[in-house]
Amino acid sequence: MSAITENLIRSNWAAVEVQALFDLPFNDLMFKAQTVHRQFFDPNTVQISQLLSIKTGACPEDCKYCPQSTRYDTGLKVEPLMEVDHVIEEARAAKQSGATRFCMGAAWRSPKKKDMPYVVAMVEGVKSLGLETCMTLGMLTEGQSQELAAAGLDYYNHNLDTSPEYYEDIITTRTYGDRLTTLENVRSAGMKVCSGGIVGMGEELKDRVGLLMQLANLPVHPESVPINMLVKVDGTPLDNVDDLEPFDFIRTIAVARILMPKSHVRLSAGREEMNEQMQAMTFLAGANSIFYGEKLLTTPNPSANKDMELFAKLGIKPEGYAQTHRPEDEAAMLVDKIQQQENDAVFYNAAS
Ligand code: SF4
Repeated sequence: MSAITENLIRSNWAAVEVQALFDLPFNDLMFKAQTVHRQFFDPNTVQISQLLSIKTGACPEDCKYCPQSTRYDTGLKVEPLMEVDHVIEEARAAKQSGATRFCMGAAWRSPKKKDMPYVVAMVEGVKSLGLETCMTLGMLTEGQSQELAAAGLDYYNHNLDTSPEYYEDIITTRTYGDRLTTLENVRSAGMKVCSGGIVGMGEELKDRVGLLMQLANLPVHPESVPINMLVKVDGTPLDNVDDLEPFDFIRTIAVARILMPKSHVRLSAGREEMNEQMQAMTFLAGANSIFYGEKLLTTPNPSANKDMELFAKLGIKPEGYAQTHRPEDEAAMLVDKIQQQENDAVFYNAAS
C-alpha cells in the first residue's frame, strides 16, 4: 500500500468530520466514496456470504428490532441448536451456490459451556470444505474467543447496532461496553472482526454519525462492516417506526466506505425491500459484500438467483469465485448453476 492510501486508514475521526461527509451534496459524496473504493478494491467485485441460523429464537436479550427475542410475540418458530452434520450439509450446498464464506448465527446471550464442543465441531467441519467461517453467537469471553480461533474460525460477528447515545433505547440487557469487550476478545484471539449496525430504527442522523465513528475509531477497523436497514417485524417494539429515507441509507454506506476504506462494507438485512436500482447505488457507494440465500436469519432476503441476475446486469463478479474463468462469464455461469440447482431441488430453502 502506498503512503497516500495508507493515510486514508485512520482511527481518529471526529464527529464534525463524519457529519461533514454526511452533509456533502449526494453526488460529491458518491464520487468521494467511489474514489476511495477504487484505491482498495476492484469496483466490480462483490463478496458473497451465506448465513444460516443454527439456533433460532428464545433469546433472553431484549433487542427491540429482533423477532428472536423471547420477550416479543412474533410467531417465530423456535428451533434448538442444529445438528453438526446438518450444518455441514448446508455449508456444502452454499459452496456449490458460489458462497465463499459461511456464517452461522445462534440466538444466544452468549454460548454456554455445553454448547462450545458443538460450535467448535461446526467450525472445523465447515472449514474443512474450504469455506471461510464466520459465527455470531452473542457475547464471548476471552477463553471462548481463543477456543473458536483455535478451531479455525475466521470471522466473528458482533454488531454495535447504533450510537452509544441511542443504544439504551434499543437494548437494555447488555451494555455498549459489553459489546466492545467482546470485540476486543475476538481481536486479541486473532480472529477477524465483523461489526456494523442497523439504521432506520428511529435514530437521528447524529446516531448514524456516532455508530460509524465508533466502528472507524476501533484500534483496527473491522474487516467486515454490515450495514443493515431495519426490517420491521410485527410484534417487535420497532414494528411501527418511520421508514428511513433511502438516500440516507445510501449515504450511510458511502460514509462507511470512506471511513473504513479497506473493510468489506456489507449490504445486509433489508435488501429484500430495496429495488435493483437502489442496490446498484449502494454498490456505487462502496458496498462490496452481500448475504445471499432466501432468509437472513429470520427475515426475508432476495433469492440467490435474483442476486446473480442483478450481478449479470451490472457486470459484477462474485469475489473469489471461478477465478479461472473470464470475468464476463462468471456471473452468467453462476445464474446457470443456481437455476440448475433449483431444478434439481437441492437448493437450500430456509423458508421451508
Ligand atoms: S439480536 Fe441477537 S441478542 Fe438480540 S434478541 Fe436477537 S438474537 Fe438475541
